Amino acid sequence: MTDAVTAEGLDAADPLAGCRERFVLGPEVAYLDGNSLGRPLAVTAEALARFTREDWGGRLIRAWDESWVALPTELGDRLGAVLLGAAAGQTVVGDSTSVLLYKLARAAVDAAPAERDEIVLSDDDFPTDRYLLEGIAAETGRTLRWIHTDHAGGVSVADAGAAVGERTALVVLSHVTYRSGYLADAAAITRVAHEAGAPVLWDLCHSVGSVPVDLDGWGANLAVGCTYKYLGGGPGAPAFAYVAQRHHGVLRQPIQGWFGRRDPFAMAAGYEPAAGIRQFLSGTPPVLATVPLQVGLDLYAEVGIDAVRAKSVALTEFTVAAADRLGLEVASPRDPDRRGGHVTLRHPDARRLVATLWERGVIPDFRAPDGIRIGLAPLSTSFTEVAAGLEVLSGLLTPTS
Ligand SMILES: *Cc1c(COP(=O)(O)O)cnc(C)c1O
Repeated sequence: MTDAVTAEGLDAADPLAGCRERFVLGPEVAYLDGNSLGRPLAVTAEALARFTREDWGGRLIRAWDESWVALPTELGDRLGAVLLGAAAGQTVVGDSTSVLLYKLARAAVDAAPAERDEIVLSDDDFPTDRYLLEGIAAETGRTLRWIHTDHAGGVSVADAGAAVGERTALVVLSHVTYRSGYLADAAAITRVAHEAGAPVLWDLCHSVGSVPVDLDGWGANLAVGCTYKYLGGGPGAPAFAYVAQRHHGVLRQPIQGWFGRRDPFAMAAGYEPAAGIRQFLSGTPPVLATVPLQVGLDLYAEVGIDAVRAKSVALTEFTVAAADRLGLEVASPRDPDRRGGHVTLRHPDARRLVATLWERGVIPDFRAPDGIRIGLAPLSTSFTEVAAGLEVLSGLLTPTS
């Protein structure tokens, strides 16, 4: 059977197949980058128009009291319930992932005793995570302890166990790594860090909306993630932060803006942190920019993350099998239990291949030095679409006379 025939059968049997039609679909042959910037839902345009007319235009400044002041925590609670396994009162939406990562990591490092002078991280983590922690280490006189990670792999429980100890102030890791798609055993790694007395900050950017997350169940301390990848929040959509209840009032975040103050509209002298998760806010929340995310969460609430994960596994299995037939090296875990929602293929000519694919309407992304990253957003990607994209790739690999 050809890939196309198999793909049609998989689409016909896919309980989520109907979701694809709800997205804005362009003329591309295959969009394989929905893990970097998700497609918009078609209802997003109307939701933005309605917000502009009714909430912003209709209520003007009154809407702050009526709904917007509460939005960062209300939306955080919803995200926590639908996708993060986080009980209410521990999640806020706002800022960017980079800013929230700074705020939470800095708070955790500041709270660690002086003899805990190491921050544990992976040398293959997403650049912003590495750069921010380099900055925090320099500001606080701490040292970075790098876990060396292969481009095709990720941080195992044993790797984490070997790196943590009585000197660890904080462990920062990605749940799904941006490069290989390695899915870390977050529950076990959190346990190992806690046995060494160290808190863990999970970066969920590449897992939220693709893989089940259970922050409370893991006993996680802190987490951040973005909403413009699988969640369809749109370019530059705000991020989220999770701080476990037990740290509220103990950790002190470094950007003491008025929105994180107790009763910000008192405009009073002196900063006093708000109670609960609101103390992790800083400035005016990005209300307008949360509209697409709210629409995206509605869809996740409707279908459930377990169905999304099941399709995600099927999509990555399909892609790995096709890559094997094409003779392409798979630089992602072969065990679906250790793999998130994307598959990276390796080719010495990856940069040129990806540029040509883009010209032909097939949109994966290139990850230096030699990675072709195939992102598979389960709600908007069909098996037929993936097969069509891989067919074009296959044509580029076949030498022509
Ligand atoms: C996408 C991503 C980010 C993005 O951070 P921004 O502040 O939104 O630019 C951070 N960390 C990881 C692991 C990511 O995948």
